Amino acid sequence: MRLYTVLIKPVSGQCNMQCDYCFYCDEMKNRSTASYGRMSEQTLRNVIRRAMRQAGEEICFAFQGGEPTLRGLDFYSRAIELEKRFNTGHTRVLNSIQTNGLALDEEWCRFFREHDFLVGVSLDGTKRCHDTYRHGPGGGGTYRRVTESIKLLEEFGVRFNILTVVTAQTAEHIEEIYGEYRKNGWQYQQYIACLDPIGAPPGQQDYSLTPEAYGRFLTKLFRMWHKDWRRGKAPYIRQFENYIGMLNGYAPEACEQCGVCSVQCVAEADGSAYPCDFYVLDEYRLGDYGENDIRQMTECAAAKAFVRRSLNISAECRACEWYSLCRCGCQRCRIRDGEKDGYINSLCGGYRMFFDKCGRQLQEIAQYSRSVKV
Ligand code: SF4
Ligand code: SF4
Ligand code: SF4
Repeated sequence: MRLYTVLIKPVSGQCNMQCDYCFYCDEMKNRSTASYGRMSEQTLRNVIRRAMRQAGEEICFAFQGGEPTLRGLDFYSRAIELEKRFNTGHTRVLNSIQTNGLALDEEWCRFFREHDFLVGVSLDGTKRCHDTYRHGPGGGGTYRRVTESIKLLEEFGVRFNILTVVTAQTAEHIEEIYGEYRKNGWQYQQYIACLDPIGAPPGQQDYSLTPEAYGRFLTKLFRMWHKDWRRGKAPYIRQFENYIGMLNGYAPEACEQCGVCSVQCVAEADGSAYPCDFYVLDEYRLGDYGENDIRQMTECAAAKAFVRRSLNISAECRACEWYSLCRCGCQRCRIRDGEKDGYINSLCGGYRMFFDKCGRQLQEIAQYSRSVKV
């Protein structure tokens, strides 16, 4: 078994921001230990040692939170040392970090540049949208500070992408948001549908997406992107690039577009392992990086049950004309299909709207990229 990514949580769910829709805060409320505190160097060592043992040609250490910068730069310097020490097989080691950008300064940027970190910065479009839900410690908006951090990353030549949570508000203002990103020259964009709280019926929160809002969002975004694509100036938008790759026979690199979950090897701060960032909950615990081999953890009963459930897709999905592209989306967004057996995506209507309106153009782009590669 080859391991490609390990997702490390250096400070568990601790954060210097308070976002109304934070999915990890919700997970913390739904488990017996809310926060596992700060990851010790010994735990970091265990995680990296075991991961390097399972690595093939390439492995990525992805640091996430909470807010991972709260663990301090020394921790990351130590991670680089350990990656080198345990890299006995000439593996290409990549590092990425997902941050809210609040604490970034020159020292952080210098470090990221030196070690070629890929930095994901969470930003919800415009000041108005961002500040609606992404609050600082005192409750105020954080847009100004985060955009200053992005400028600093640019100045230092750090590779970064912008991660935007698609809420009811960002969906409604996507034209303004895309225009702003275009004006700023942000070429790498990722849009993630906002999750509803665990166990809550979908669509009930102020920030919740409805299928209609999501469908309109995807369609508008795609049309703007398509226009830019025709001019040879389209940014990289992960979801669209994956659809085009899939139409050309490539496996999607985004797990929510695979149709079936794989075990993502999350390492919580105390060293316990989980199958996915969306399922860091007691009943999904797979083992401990201090005690168990990664192979053992990814093949245990809890891991198998997690993957098996993602295969339980409704008959409606399987019969859907868009199934080969949509694949029912992320398991965390699926709901039971009424009384029937199997799951369907809670945003199904939105996916259908998008594929009905933009599927043909996706196919044309895929065909074009095939023809230029020949
Ligand atoms: S910055 Fe991220 S981890 Fe922190 S509260 Fe917001 S969504 Fe949660
Ligand atoms: S639950 Fe979603 S994010 Fe997690 S592994 Fe499955 S598809 Fe990926
Ligand atoms: S569009 Fe709806 S029915 Fe079709 S595959 Fe996606 S979730 Fe299933």
